[in-house]
Amino acid sequence: MAANDRGPEGAEHVEIVEVGPRDGLQNEDRVLSAEDRVELIDRAVAAGVRRIEAVSFVNPKRVPQMAGAEEVMAGVTRAPGVSHIGLVLNRRGLDRAVAAGVSEVNVAVPATDGFCVRNQGCTVSEMLDVLAGIDTDLAGTGIPLSVTVSTAFGCPFDGEVDPARVVEVVRRVADTGAVEIALADTIGVGVPHQVTELVAGVAKVADGRTLRCHFHNTRNTGYANALAAVEAGVRVLDSSLGGFGGCPFAPAATGNIATEDLLYLLHRSGLHTGVSLSGAAALGEWMGQRLDKQPPAYLGRAGNFPA
Ligand code: MG
Repeated sequence: MAANDRGPEGAEHVEIVEVGPRDGLQNEDRVLSAEDRVELIDRAVAAGVRRIEAVSFVNPKRVPQMAGAEEVMAGVTRAPGVSHIGLVLNRRGLDRAVAAGVSEVNVAVPATDGFCVRNQGCTVSEMLDVLAGIDTDLAGTGIPLSVTVSTAFGCPFDGEVDPARVVEVVRRVADTGAVEIALADTIGVGVPHQVTELVAGVAKVADGRTLRCHFHNTRNTGYANALAAVEAGVRVLDSSLGGFGGCPFAPAATGNIATEDLLYLLHRSGLHTGVSLSGAAALGEWMGQRLDKQPPAYLGRAGNFPA
């Protein structure tokens, strides 16, 4: 195992939230069995991942890739300090998530009506009301809530997104009990300058909540954006093993930034993640085999350095 496999010991820590089992798989033609998804999740945890978006509680008729969330949650190995996150878009999904025993609930709130109406069947304003209801229902359960503000850098329907609008959505989210708020470049259109400005803007209204960022590499800016976020003070990043993922409303959207490529970038920049680069690279390859597809990630092809 290379000395930099999990990042330099004692160095500043960046937390990786592995989203491969959810965002990575939800748009693939091939549907992985619940058993395969359990294996993916458990192996990611064995590689050092401590927070993982394991499942989503959406209508399986709309997203067949995410069917069997209860089965997946029942199959994963639980361990102290490991959080299995469930994505929830409404209170019906929340009831399922709580019953399935998720460690954490993530709710997506788009910044734009065009995306929100098509993805979630309601306006942003209505979604903020749904979020308030979820927040009320979660209070007292001890299950932490995080909120991902999607289409924060651009919308496939509404086009350019005014940063002031994103800041306003974050301000409303900060009225809830959410412990973490994420800015998501859902369709991979953002550039580092936008990241720097938006992170600074939302930090002022986030009321001390942890900030997380979620990038896609659709236009090859995903890793530059991740680094810009870290330089702006963000210490939690989403990424997907193998770089799989997409967006049903952005036909050419390639995947999330790849976990193994992100680890290489962060570790070699002197940051610690605690996630094994060699383990992540092997898992990215495993996903490629299961999906019968070349992983978008580069690390698996190029190999680590030093070898
Ligand atoms: Mg995404």
